[in-house]
Amino acid sequence: MRTIEPTFEVRWGAATHPGRRRKSNQDAFLAQPPIFAIADGMGGHERGEVAARVAVDALRPLAGADWLTPRELYDAIRNAAETVRAAGGSGPGAPGSTLSGVGLTNQDGVPCWLVFNIGDSRVYRISEGELEQITVDHSKVQEMVEAGRLTAAEAREHRDHNIITRALGAGRRALPEADQWLLTASHGDRVLICSDGLSGELTDQFLAAALLTIPDPQGVADHLVARAVEAGGRDNATALVIDVLTVGVPAGGSFPAIDADVTEPGDIDDSTLDFPAVDVVPTLDFRPDDRARDGGPERQQ
Ligand code: MG
Repeated sequence: MRTIEPTFEVRWGAATHPGRRRKSNQDAFLAQPPIFAIADGMGGHERGEVAARVAVDALRPLAGADWLTPRELYDAIRNAAETVRAAGGSGPGAPGSTLSGVGLTNQDGVPCWLVFNIGDSRVYRISEGELEQITVDHSKVQEMVEAGRLTAAEAREHRDHNIITRALGAGRRALPEADQWLLTASHGDRVLICSDGLSGELTDQFLAAALLTIPDPQGVADHLVARAVEAGGRDNATALVIDVLTVGVPAGGSFPAIDADVTEPGDIDDSTLDFPAVDVVPTLDFRPDDRARDGGPERQQ
């Protein structure tokens, strides 16, 4: 198959802060195209810090390429999960980490975001002036929201807000599966990746206002982290903001087909990609979300 190379340019900014209540920062991030990710460690001080760092380090080999493939991302996430598990051992109290972010992939000439998530760090996107949360938290309160027992605002303040139901490590024997979404990347897109220390302090309305009004990605990352600390700073807070500056799909790119096949409303929020058997977008097999409901580790600190 011939490779169609679109032109594509992003710029980004990142900020992180330990917050007001914690001595260490157990959030780690990686911002090197085509991979952007945040890991939020748990397991107390150094062990959580190591788990998060090990998780993002496992994605580092993806950095520096023009694009990554779904297979490469799948393998790197799996490697991250194996490495965190090996570093932390098994049993209750073993350190763990979330892992969430985006990879840039070229699907038959069309630049796409490959969004992934394990845990309760989040990926949002501003597209055509609207904020949408792409990832769905693997958390106890998210399950209560889905069951209609809590509102999103109540979830933020709930005493169990820090119990997550899927993680790398955390004493699990089985490796976690990442939820994944494929979205076409459009000119003007702005992606926010953040840890729960940020989304737990700031409302979606606040996020949208900042993301829609502050032009510079570093400026908006700094602003969001500073406001999260001011708003309470109960946890480490990290923000990564990526802007799409230019997108050029060459003649022969199948942009319209991909738009129709993949980004129909409803496909995005309710689907995961059936990895790793994918090459180009039209062969992707979307299926209903079948996220495990397997109970999970509680952050300890
Ligand atoms: Mg956190």
